[in-house]
Amino acid sequence: MKTITKAGRMQALCARLKRESKAIAFVPTMGALHDGHLSLVRKARKLGDIVVVSIFVNRTQFGTGEDLDKYPRTVENDKRLLRKLDVDCLFLPDDHEMYPSGYLTYVETELITSILEGKSRPTHFRGVTTVVMKLFNVVQPDIAIFGQKDAQQAVVIRKMVADLNIPVKVVVAPTVREKSGLALSSRNRYLSAEQIERASCIYQGLKGGRELIKSGVTDSRKVISEVRRVINRTVGTVIDYISVNDANTLEKAGKITKEVLISAAVKLDGVRLIDNIRAKPGRKRR
Ligand code: AMP
Repeated sequence: MKTITKAGRMQALCARLKRESKAIAFVPTMGALHDGHLSLVRKARKLGDIVVVSIFVNRTQFGTGEDLDKYPRTVENDKRLLRKLDVDCLFLPDDHEMYPSGYLTYVETELITSILEGKSRPTHFRGVTTVVMKLFNVVQPDIAIFGQKDAQQAVVIRKMVADLNIPVKVVVAPTVREKSGLALSSRNRYLSAEQIERASCIYQGLKGGRELIKSGVTDSRKVISEVRRVINRTVGTVIDYISVNDANTLEKAGKITKEVLISAAVKLDGVRLIDNIRAKPGRKRR
């Protein structure tokens, strides 16, 4: 596995690979890799001739007071995991390489970035779209793989790709979970085993909501209050939001008539966790 830290070198290498008609499959990450990330890398290995992974803790997607400084950084272990999965190239730029002094340009997708995560984290998606656009320009992937874990991010990236005519196929891979049901996340490193058990109430709540939808409930308020009930009975939880939205457009779903995304952001003993589940309405509607 080649490790490249300079954008220019990475871009030149990828341009050469493309001239050789190699399909580049790309997985952008912020490192502290876990099985969720690795599932995306395995998918990339299946879909592309060349697999490129990036590790970059992107400061522009962190708000003030968020965990940028204490975000876990485990590069040597990450490299070992990526080598095992036969990754061809790791792009590992530093902050200055991505945002040299005097940096002024940002990419912004409107509307769908100011709801859900965007409401709680107003500058987050501007940082995400900017860095992903930059990474796409450097790596020039044919296929880019993102996780359903960050469902809104996947919708926003798809929209950016469509709106800006970016020649990349976006693939979204399923959420990988702990046995308890908690979605794997680099931020789970902030939690003890006991807290991880308690945090599984988020997935239990989301599943409860999905069951209601499957059983024919179409009023999203009923679904939200069921999810809220399950999460609230666990000590140490503070709900930021629970929402039911169209799974593809993220439009708020009042009456549930097509596939929706039930999403939640919850603080567990102060650690902010997000999760979501897709749900299709059952045949019997009530
Ligand atoms: P991050 O390092 O948090 O920026 O995540 C990098 C990519 O991994 C994103 O596309 C995430 O959606 C994806 N990802 C994170 N956690 C999981 C998970 N538990 N299952 C599947 N994909 C995930």
